[in-house]
Amino acid sequence: MTYIVQKFGGTSVADLDRIQHVASKVREEVVKGNKVAVVVSAMAGETNKLNEWANQLGGSKLNAEYDVIVSSGEQVTSGLLALYLNKIGINARSWMAWQIPFVTDSIHTKARITEIQAAELKASLDENCVAVVPGFQGVTKNKRVTTLGRGGSDTTAVALAAALNAERCDIYTDVDGVYTTDPRIVAKARKIDAVTYEEMLEMASQGAKVLQTRSVALAMLYDVRLQVLSSFENKPGTLVLNEEEILEHETVTGIAYSPDEAKITLRRVGDKPGIAANIFGSLAKASINVDMIVQNVSEDGNATDITFTVNQTESERTSEVLHNLRNEIGFSDLIADQNVTKISVIGVGMRSQPGVATTMFKTLGEKGINIEVISTSEIKVSVLIRSEYTELAVRALHTAYGLDSS
Ligand code: ADP
Ligand code: ASP
Ligand code: MG
Repeated sequence: MTYIVQKFGGTSVADLDRIQHVASKVREEVVKGNKVAVVVSAMAGETNKLNEWANQLGGSKLNAEYDVIVSSGEQVTSGLLALYLNKIGINARSWMAWQIPFVTDSIHTKARITEIQAAELKASLDENCVAVVPGFQGVTKNKRVTTLGRGGSDTTAVALAAALNAERCDIYTDVDGVYTTDPRIVAKARKIDAVTYEEMLEMASQGAKVLQTRSVALAMLYDVRLQVLSSFENKPGTLVLNEEEILEHETVTGIAYSPDEAKITLRRVGDKPGIAANIFGSLAKASINVDMIVQNVSEDGNATDITFTVNQTESERTSEVLHNLRNEIGFSDLIADQNVTKISVIGVGMRSQPGVATTMFKTLGEKGINIEVISTSEIKVSVLIRSEYTELAVRALHTAYGLDSS
C-alpha cells in the first residue's frame, strides 16, 4: 500500500475556488490508487487575524487559550476540503488533532510532537477514505489544544508522513520549489532541483520560510522524501534528499536572510573566568536561544564588551535576565539593537572549497556594507548587517556566487 501526504499552505487554500482546485490535486493522487492524507493550513491571512484578536484581549498571557483561537483557521479549511471532496465523489473525512490523536508536549504556541497514534487514521485510509488533517495543531496528554509555531503545518505533514511511513510528502505552496534565495526579493533567483536535508535545514533556520525548520529536521531524522512544489502550476518541484543522492554540488547552494534578529551588546563586562558561562547559562535557563557571539579584546585587562544575537521576540526578556545579573557580571551598559539582519550563504560544497567567506566579505565591502558580527559552521557563513542593506546585500551575493538565472 502506498501512502502519500500532501500539504497545502495558506495561499493554496485562500478561498473556496482554490479549495476546489486543491480537491482536484487530491483526486489526482487518489485515482492513481494511493492512500492520501492531506494536511491543510488556514486560509492565507487567517492565522494573522486570529493572532491579532487574541493579542487584543491579552492572548499571549494565557497561551493555552491563545492556541485554541489561532488553531481554529485550520479546522475550517480541513472541514471545507473534506466536504468538497465528498461532493465530487471522493470518500474523505476530517481528523482534528485530538481525534487522531496528534500528541504534543504542553509548550503552548511552540509545542513539540511527542507521539502520533495513527492506527485509526491508517485503518480509515486503508478503507479508501482520504484523511484531511488540520496542520499546526496538536493536543496535550491532558487534552489541551496546542500549536506548533508559525509555519507549523509543514511539520504536521512531515510528522504524519513519518508515522504512516509514506512514500512521499509533497508540500504544495505558492512558489514552484525552493529557490537559491527568496524569489520575492531577488528576481534572478533560480529554482533548485534538489537540495540536501542539511542545506535545507540551514536555509530554513536562517530565514527561508518556505519550510518550517522543524519539518526539515524531522524529515532528515525519519528519512521522509520531501518535495516542495506549486499548487498552481503542474511541474516538478524541488526534492529534499540525502547528500549521496545529489551528484554535483555548487559551492553555495542558497542565500537566506533573517530580519528577526536583535543584537545585544554588554559594555564593560568583567574580564574574568566564569562570566560568559554565567551570562549564557542564565539565558539558556530562561530558554532564550543565543545565536552569534563575539567578545572583544579587553583593552585594560579588567573589562570587555560582549555582543550576541537573539530572536527579536526574546529581546525584552534577554534584557530582563541580564539586568537581574548585573551585580554578578557588572556591565556598564546594555544596548539592544533591532535594526539588524542576518545574511547567510549556505552550501555543502563549501566543505571542500576554500574562499567562500572571503568572497562574502569582499562583496559586501565593495557595496560599502559594514559587517557587525560573523559566525560560521561547516556549511554556512553568516554576517549581521544594518537592515536597510538587506536587499542590496542579498542581490550582490547572489551575483557574486554565480547564482543568477540567465
Ligand atoms: P505556505 O503558505 O504555502 O506555507 P509560505 O509563505 O510559508 O507558504 O512559504 C512560501 C514562501 O517562502 C514563498 O512565497 C517565498 O516568498 C518564501 N521563500 C523564502 N525563501 C525562499 C526560497 N529560498 N525559496 C522559495 N521560497 C522562499
Ligand atoms: N496557519 C499557520 C501559520 O500561518 C500554520 C501554517 O500555515 O503552516 O503560521
Ligand atoms: Mg509555510
